[in-house]
Amino acid sequence: MTIRTRVAPSPTGDPHLGTAYIALFNYCFAKQQGGEFVLRIEDTDQVRSTRESEQAIMDSLKWLGLNWDHGPDVGGEFGPYRQSERSDMYKKFAQQLVYEGKAFYCFATAEELDQMREEQMAEGLRPKYDGRGLNLSEDEIKANLEAGKPYVIRMKIPAEGSFKFNDYLRGEIEIPWENVDMQVLLKADGFPTYFLANVVDDHHMEISHIFRGEEWINSAPKLLKLYEDFGWQPPVLGHLPLLRNPDKSKLSKRKNPTSINYYKEMGFLPEALLNYLGRMGWSMPDEREKFTLDEMIEHFDMKRVSLGGPIFDIDKLNWLNGLWIRENLSDEELMARFFDWKFNPELLAKVLPQAKTRINTLSDLVDLAGHFVAGTPEYDPALLTAGKAEEDVVREALQIFIWELEALRTWEKSEIFAIAKAVATHFELKIKDFLEPIFVAITGKTSSTSVVDAMEILGSDMSRARLRVALNHIGVSKKQAKKLEKAYKAYQAQ
Ligand code: GLU
Repeated sequence: MTIRTRVAPSPTGDPHLGTAYIALFNYCFAKQQGGEFVLRIEDTDQVRSTRESEQAIMDSLKWLGLNWDHGPDVGGEFGPYRQSERSDMYKKFAQQLVYEGKAFYCFATAEELDQMREEQMAEGLRPKYDGRGLNLSEDEIKANLEAGKPYVIRMKIPAEGSFKFNDYLRGEIEIPWENVDMQVLLKADGFPTYFLANVVDDHHMEISHIFRGEEWINSAPKLLKLYEDFGWQPPVLGHLPLLRNPDKSKLSKRKNPTSINYYKEMGFLPEALLNYLGRMGWSMPDEREKFTLDEMIEHFDMKRVSLGGPIFDIDKLNWLNGLWIRENLSDEELMARFFDWKFNPELLAKVLPQAKTRINTLSDLVDLAGHFVAGTPEYDPALLTAGKAEEDVVREALQIFIWELEALRTWEKSEIFAIAKAVATHFELKIKDFLEPIFVAITGKTSSTSVVDAMEILGSDMSRARLRVALNHIGVSKKQAKKLEKAYKAYQAQ
């Protein structure tokens, strides 16, 4: 049997460090045993999935050197590798389960289900689908289908007992069926949910081992039961520990930049970032800190992954990156990295038109436009609140601006400006006054090139990271954080 692993990201945002981490461990496991590694794009969420996000994920994994044997761009014997191109297949399998009595139609409307949950909560029960679709007679189902009533297909779940499975990393895990809901497999729009598509694809792509994040443990009974229902041999399943912030909370962009692009823009080397991700929960048999991808593959042993949440600490990564620069790159190689990174005509072509009207000598450029290559500009935090707006207003406006930018799909000057304008209006600020602290946050100065242009050129990850640094300078207490959440709700509701 071919060892075959996969990474199956949903293309709904920035390429996440967690995706690279999961990809790395699956990659090493397969490669060490001469197996294959697959990239599958799970884009069944038609509303949130974008081609830009898919491309960014592929670019990031390639940048890191994690190349796949089968995938949407390279094809492969079990393609297509994008779920949106496999829709017909899922529907057919959902119907098959209905015919075999392992799944059922449910015609309940969203309002009916809301009411059901409300009633359950009023009785002090945990809200849960009550199995109403199971009570429909054959005739009722037929009449509903003929009348064209929208429906979903749900899987049947045993009423009692529990499900046991063997996790490759954690040993036996037992989950009572009463904690498992009758999962929707096919949605009313005819698209599959994650559960159905994931199982159908892992089976047809002949995936032998699945290592996914521990947040999926509770859904393992549903996934494995589906294999049983279809009569398919399940893959070996293992759940890797989640990456954590230094304060042990789950790695999230509120505390740490999580987009791989950010690390690229900061000038981390891909081999150092990969090395550091390899240290998350795993170590070389001789405990050495610095190793290449090939060395990791050679010594890799999934059983030696420790389950305590590994801490992703940027200071540590910084240190390791320095080692890679000093010990592994010749001067020529380092020069080539700088060219690739930002010292290139493409970036200059964007920056120079911004600078031209403001410089007298060429050397003025360094002071004026240093923020286009800097990581986090240094400045006196007092500058952030030195403008017209009160500190409280700056804090709130800045936070709302960040949240709005996080939701922005296309990172373009006009879109960024539109958000700035809307936030400024909301706080009854002139756009100039609103942009004052933003200016400092992005450029590190009180006068420089146009800030909105700078944000467009810097890209979303770097811009948002700098805005977040500014917000941290201003400080957000727990109480203020609550207030900010409320303020944002009010902003969204306006
Ligand atoms: N699409 C899922 C995700 O976004 C895949 C999880 C899995 O590996 O099964 O993480």
